[in-house]
Amino acid sequence: MTSKIAVLPGDGIGPEIVREAVKVIDALKANYGLDVEMEQGAIGGAGYDAAGDPLPAATLELAKASDAILLGAVGGPKYDQLERDKRPERGLLRIRKELNLFANLRPALLYPELAEASTLKPEVVSGLDIMIVRELTGDIYFGQPRGIEERNGERVGFNTMLYSESEVRRVAHVAFQIAMKRGKKLCSVEKANVLECSELWKEIVIEVGKKYPQVELSHMYVDNAAMQLVRAPKQFDVIVTGNIFGDILSDAASMLTGSIGMLPSASLDDNDKGMYEPIHGSAPDIAGQNLANPLATILSVAMMLRYTFGDEAAAQRIDAAVRQVLAEGYRTADIYSEGTQRVSCAEMGDAVVAALR
Ligand code: NAD
Repeated sequence: MTSKIAVLPGDGIGPEIVREAVKVIDALKANYGLDVEMEQGAIGGAGYDAAGDPLPAATLELAKASDAILLGAVGGPKYDQLERDKRPERGLLRIRKELNLFANLRPALLYPELAEASTLKPEVVSGLDIMIVRELTGDIYFGQPRGIEERNGERVGFNTMLYSESEVRRVAHVAFQIAMKRGKKLCSVEKANVLECSELWKEIVIEVGKKYPQVELSHMYVDNAAMQLVRAPKQFDVIVTGNIFGDILSDAASMLTGSIGMLPSASLDDNDKGMYEPIHGSAPDIAGQNLANPLATILSVAMMLRYTFGDEAAAQRIDAAVRQVLAEGYRTADIYSEGTQRVSCAEMGDAVVAALR
């Protein structure tokens, strides 16, 4: 049966990078019989412009009716003055919540050709290949009660760190299953020495781990994990952690590779439906100039093929094509260094398509 992909370009460089990713999907359809159809929808500022809502009802409907979603990026200065509910980023938070996309997968992979791009020493990061699984729909970002109120004559702000057993269990399963397909090592990151919420997290991860005896499970406090990520990041294979710890650690991990334009992500529900997007934003400073690096978005398509469509061969074709264009010396401006060939966003997409043949 033909699978359906909702294509949501969004704002800024979103339409440019998504155009290149669509070229790659079209090439896989033409050359390798990939059986998918695509339909476009508006989200973020584009959604606001089209329907007065950063997540128009038609887009949500399209996303719900699709097997996977490919997203560019949202946001831009034009929308910064809108009331909070109408801002582009709200559309993104809402679609994640509406589709129950609780498991956020962020690989941090350093391509040997780009080792110079990292701020860390090449020997610390060369060959780096880690996967952070971050819980995305719970924790202190959503826990109740929350607010700012008057107590004892002054204002206090408060939030609630909260995880149910079932929330921890389902993301732990995702992480163990990913570890099974990789190096079979999983590190659960929390702060169980101080937080009851983390104590429960750890207990449930250990319980789930009994179903995956082949995976070596370890535990680390988040402060130590932050240190170890920059001290010796290659000790990690898969990391699983809650929403707020994952927010911070995954950004730190992404910068180990030094190139924001290279990093894809996936956000999955419990039926392998997923939304796939680059980790970067809409880059208004370079939007509309054909300068953006489309590789993070193209690699997000590889993740889609791997995690939603279970088509590892097609995913590897994209991964290999990206490696090939880097080895051939093609570089967009953000990863350019002397001696390599500077190309535009569209030329980079064309190079990947050529490498796929
Ligand atoms: P950003 O990621 O858009 O840009 C940071 C820097 O990286 C900029 O200099 C940009 O030019 C560069 N950059 C980003 N992606 C690139 C690419 N593919 N190729 C080459 N260079 C690239 O972050 P920002 O500037 O803080 O935010 C800009 C807008 O994006 C804001 O409105 C923000 O809210 C939004 N945003 C959206 C998402 C998302 O859609 N998931 C994520 C982060 C930020």
